[in-house]
Amino acid sequence: MSSNKHLDFIENDLNELKEKGLYKNIKTIESPQGAWVNIKGKKVLNFCSNNYLGMANHPRVTDAAKNAIKDYGVGPGAVRTIAGDMDIHQKLEKKLAEFKGVEAALSVQSGFKANLSAIPSLVGKGDTIISDALNHASIIDGSRLSRAEIKVYSHNDVNELEEILKQNPPGKKLIITDGVFSMDGDIAPLPEIVELAEKYGAMTLVDDAHGEGVLGDSGKGIVDHFGLHGRVDVEVGTFSKALGVMGGCIAGSKQIVEYIKQKARPFTFSSALTVPDTAATLEAINILSESDELVLKLWDNAEYFKQGVRDLGLDTGGSETPITPVMIGDAKDATTFSERLFKEDVFAQAIGFPLVPQGQARIRAMISAAHSKEDLDFALDKFAKVGKEMNLI
Ligand code: PMP
Repeated sequence: MSSNKHLDFIENDLNELKEKGLYKNIKTIESPQGAWVNIKGKKVLNFCSNNYLGMANHPRVTDAAKNAIKDYGVGPGAVRTIAGDMDIHQKLEKKLAEFKGVEAALSVQSGFKANLSAIPSLVGKGDTIISDALNHASIIDGSRLSRAEIKVYSHNDVNELEEILKQNPPGKKLIITDGVFSMDGDIAPLPEIVELAEKYGAMTLVDDAHGEGVLGDSGKGIVDHFGLHGRVDVEVGTFSKALGVMGGCIAGSKQIVEYIKQKARPFTFSSALTVPDTAATLEAINILSESDELVLKLWDNAEYFKQGVRDLGLDTGGSETPITPVMIGDAKDATTFSERLFKEDVFAQAIGFPLVPQGQARIRAMISAAHSKEDLDFALDKFAKVGKEMNLI
């Protein structure tokens, strides 16, 4: 009988994760990702989904997926360089470019892959990436894959960013920032970043995962929000949040998008976005293009909930968007708060170290246009109840 000793490290590592409180216990959802979800037969108010506009279960979006399957089947066959572009991918990319006000867009399989595609295509060994300290993991991994030197500036600190640029780091320079930061809900100072990039001859890449469908006119994103059209080199996006589906996007000038298409390994070596994802995303953008009703409802809900939380005497940190951190401080308290909320039928995740600094643990409430005012009042009642029980208010 062969020994399994060579796999002992797995049990040891898993135990260590559990001891450190870093083991991920994942809940099972038995319903669509709507305002309410079913977990173990219990209906709970959903504050954990990035489904900002309720598109994940929008009848037009789900119908688009079903109809596309009838016309095209499910899978894309292979990578696009071998099996070919399907015209539905091209339709989506044309629509995306139009929506974002850029010349061209490329769809890939996820937002994560969009960063793994764009960053190593643009810079390599001998070049420099200048990156915000709170950038998303996919930016960090894409940057590491590129083998460029990575210089990190303190979160949103444009003075520090300029200090780095002044030193004229080697090779091509690429400044990368999240548009909206996912744990705090604050917005990057993109106009200042773009000005510095122009002054020092650096490229810019903004990851607008949490800005698309949220910021700007009809949810066109952070570039539109700041009126920076034509001044940001690459916009990376995801279809998995406000658009309610799955997939990623790289947008910019025709030339830069073509360059990334030619060079990106996840594009060349990994199959394209599935047919239902492509069709559903296209329909979600159609809905956004027709009316800003959902975006306005999202903001109305977000303001209402945030004000309600503040009226309770709780702190919503530096949030400027529907991502609502309810600051608790101690990580164990945040976990207890989240567990007690769950008993009260509110599903809201506790976020602690290492996702946020020690002592800044919080409940992260993700507000959606799918929530009604009654839902938000229900949640506020429960936040008040648990907050009082835990002597936090
Ligand atoms: N970038 C940011 C800023 C994100 O928040 C996320 C999702 N957590 C991603 C990229 C990855 O997107 P996807 O889920 O489509 O891979």
